[in-house]
Amino acid sequence: MPLVNAAEMLTKAKAGHYAVGQFNINNLEWTKAILLTAQELNSPVILGVSEGAGKYMAGYKTVVGMVNGMLEELNITVPVALHLDHGTYEGAKKCIEAGFSSIMFDGSHYPIEENIEKTKELVAICKEKGLSIEAEVGAIGGEEDGVIGKGECADPQECKQIADLGVTMLAAGIGNIHGKYPENWEGLSFETLDAVQKLTGTMPLVLHGGTGIPADMIKKAISLGVSKINVNTECQLAFQAATRKYIEDGKDLQGKGFDPRKLLAPGFEAIKATVKEKMELFGSVNKA
Ligand SMILES: [Zn+2]
Repeated sequence: MPLVNAAEMLTKAKAGHYAVGQFNINNLEWTKAILLTAQELNSPVILGVSEGAGKYMAGYKTVVGMVNGMLEELNITVPVALHLDHGTYEGAKKCIEAGFSSIMFDGSHYPIEENIEKTKELVAICKEKGLSIEAEVGAIGGEEDGVIGKGECADPQECKQIADLGVTMLAAGIGNIHGKYPENWEGLSFETLDAVQKLTGTMPLVLHGGTGIPADMIKKAISLGVSKINVNTECQLAFQAATRKYIEDGKDLQGKGFDPRKLLAPGFEAIKATVKEKMELFGSVNKA
């Protein structure tokens, strides 16, 4: 099946009280592991590509070519969206041109008026071309900020303003953070999430920084309207641990253990296991 935008899968998820995972990709192994797992579990899936990862993979056109090729060659029949993660205004335009089916415009660092202006413009282009679009209100904390106890919480009124522009999905900061959570993290603000959902109604809400949020908090967030959850760091950590073990066990020194197809296999399997675990937790299994 060709790429689809994320609108239908997320509308269904919100109505069915489950969430679709966005798993970020970094290379061929990552992409193949995520697509095969989604197919095996009969789950819809969103492949996330950050601007940095897009550059790393030799540009957005390369990414689109690789993903489209795999959908065909691996006989992937579940709904798959290819989504720009935390896009700049310019990056979003490039991905629309290159053939992505979904974009995120992260204007959260602009004053709200400018965020609205730029989001509005991109909403119009996405509507015309049939892409879905995610907007963000209230910046989501990250490791670059050093030790922080709490990510920023979005203003629910600003969330409504942005939701009313016709975006497909909305990322609202609710105390979530990218990367590993610090020990003194105060947890998600369900108060904020509840207030945002009350004002935005059926709009699918997006939870960034899914790595390390306890399962009970994930479930509660889904019950309060979160229908897309972004997972990135967790796959990286699983890949790293499995690859480290392979080398520490000296397997790369045995026989043809140096063959990259063997060297990267444990990491590939570790990503598959992580994606499976998340899809089961999010409730998207058999929802394709
Ligand atoms: Zn994010």
